[in-house]
Amino acid sequence: MDTNDLAARVKAGERRALARAITLVESNRADHRVQAVALNEALAGTGREALRLGLSGTPGVGKSTFIEAFGTMLTGQGLKVAVLAVDPSSTRSGGSILGDKTRMETLSRDSNAFIRPSPSQSQLGGVARRTREVVALCEAAGFDVVLIETVGVGQSETMVAEMSDLFLLLLAPAGGDELQGVKRGIMEIADMILVNKADGDLKPVANRTCADYAGALRLLRKRPEDPKGFPKAMTVSAVSGDGLEAAWEEMQTLAAWRKENSHWQARRAMQSRHWFEEEVRQGLLARLSGSPEMRSRMNALGARVADGELAPGAAAQEMLEILGSAYA
Ligand code: GDP
Repeated sequence: MDTNDLAARVKAGERRALARAITLVESNRADHRVQAVALNEALAGTGREALRLGLSGTPGVGKSTFIEAFGTMLTGQGLKVAVLAVDPSSTRSGGSILGDKTRMETLSRDSNAFIRPSPSQSQLGGVARRTREVVALCEAAGFDVVLIETVGVGQSETMVAEMSDLFLLLLAPAGGDELQGVKRGIMEIADMILVNKADGDLKPVANRTCADYAGALRLLRKRPEDPKGFPKAMTVSAVSGDGLEAAWEEMQTLAAWRKENSHWQARRAMQSRHWFEEEVRQGLLARLSGSPEMRSRMNALGARVADGELAPGAAAQEMLEILGSAYA
């Protein structure tokens, strides 16, 4: 395949080319990886920049309903929206597959929207790496907003935050006890908390929940990249559409402020560096487990450690030296 030709067609916004490019970057085959890297290179420097929005929330809070309503609102304003998911297959449950098109019926038929389910990799690291590259493809293809959806499981939120410009946490109306249950770590990385389902009977509870989170956010965090009033908690209803417009305005305000104050660029630069280091780390691990020679060396040293013949630290040192000389 000619990666330059594919790159040109992705840049021209051809959906089939984009789908093909995504399949390529998601592939595990070594020759595909080489082509994927060439494709990324060919697409670099388009100068196109999407707003990358991370969105996390536990199953049932209304992520797909929100994305359907919010995404449709954005395409209605003439924006092109891509929806991606980060979902290691081991965490899939209850038939709720993130990025499943049947969960977003209107948006999936929208010509200005593109929905892609999570790559099927068993390792979260692999899913994250592929998704990050897909974000770059969508950006090069001219999407204005790239929404990256994840469930609040394990490291997936941190990984999505590492590839987002803004990280949104979607919550359901809840009592005080449940508020305690939201992980402190996630509150620390959230740029905005959206309390969904603020409609009908749930509205008063949603308002209270929102006020509680707003208070918690104020106590928890003040970062230089947050302008006055951020991080912010707001109520929305994915069903009625209430608050979606206001939430979008706040996202744009925050994004614009960060751009003006160089935090945007600094964040992206830090993320790029993080992903570079992560990729080297993953590559090293792959070499360690992918080469029969290295595996047998590991096994032999492991057996000596198990027998008490070698200390773990000494054996690790020896293994690292073997690895170092193999690739020196
Ligand atoms: P997900 O698992 O996070 O993707 O959640 P879903 O979008 O599938 O929604 C879970 C349930 O909550 C569904 O029954 C939705 O109809 C309902 N739901 C989602 N958003 C709202 C909302 O804004 N208001 C109300 N009342 N229900 C909602």
